[in-house]
Amino acid sequence: MLIGLPKGLMYWKYGITVRTFLEELGLEYIVSPDTNRDILDRGVNTCVDDACLPVKVFHGHVDWLKDRCDLIITPRIMKVTEREFICPKFCGIIEMLKNSITGLPKLTEMPLNMVTREDLLRWFMSIGKSMGCNRKSILQAYEKAIGAYRDMEKGYDDSGYEYKVALIGHPYNIYDDYCNMNLRRKLNRLGVGVITEEKVDKSVIEEKVTSLFKRPFWSFAKNSYGASIALYEQGTIDGIIYISSFACGIDSIVIEIIKDYIGDFPFMVLKIDEHTGEAGVDTRIEAFCDMLERRNLNEDKCSESGKHLHSC
Ligand code: SF4
Repeated sequence: MLIGLPKGLMYWKYGITVRTFLEELGLEYIVSPDTNRDILDRGVNTCVDDACLPVKVFHGHVDWLKDRCDLIITPRIMKVTEREFICPKFCGIIEMLKNSITGLPKLTEMPLNMVTREDLLRWFMSIGKSMGCNRKSILQAYEKAIGAYRDMEKGYDDSGYEYKVALIGHPYNIYDDYCNMNLRRKLNRLGVGVITEEKVDKSVIEEKVTSLFKRPFWSFAKNSYGASIALYEQGTIDGIIYISSFACGIDSIVIEIIKDYIGDFPFMVLKIDEHTGEAGVDTRIEAFCDMLERRNLNEDKCSESGKHLHSC
């Protein structure tokens, strides 16, 4: 039996865990290619119109895999942390796929809770058992998979650039270079390095969200807000770029509460969907980087004359 892994949504965060698990069990698998025009078109043609870009892209990856494997791993992620929730599209992704794509092979439907190790193990156990593996080998493969996730290098923290910005957003927007149009590479070429939320300690993120009127109950919202505020307060970044999916409810709220907190600190929102043109993105990035430079020059002048930046 050949297993298919769609390279979309949380593959960008947990792909290595699932791959290690399958390899340890000696199971054959195929990963869909990096997102490209063909995958995007498949997603746009199959998925409902009003879904966000990442969900359409995921449909594209599943559509690419459907005739190439016997089972597709489609995690129905319900929860990643206690007292928090994940976007409902993750819980309903299997129903979306089944209603949109014809001729699908078997999909994994078991809900995936990631709060405790027991929750996680239950999900891996169900995958392993459906492949005919025994409990002992599944347990060993699971331990290796968790170890691989723990040991992998997570996030970006560029050094050696004149400026640095926090790149904030969902992992599938930050790490899928086709969807974000190689944003990191473009920024690097303009002399701007990036840092992502994974480089901020989890305890610091938890502490930053305590200043909010109400603790965010979306895990994505908590991480994006907490990391943005922590990096801003540390004074180690010159600006924040938020990559947001068009029609994402979580993004629309988080963006506003970040803006509220940081005031006139440089902040740019890049909204992406299947219609986003690369030329427009390039222009906006260049303008943002120019602004960082001008701001820096102003700050230098202000500090020379002893004035505060806002009064310059
Ligand atoms: S969190 Fe936003 S971008 Fe992610 S799947 Fe949900 S709606 Fe789409």
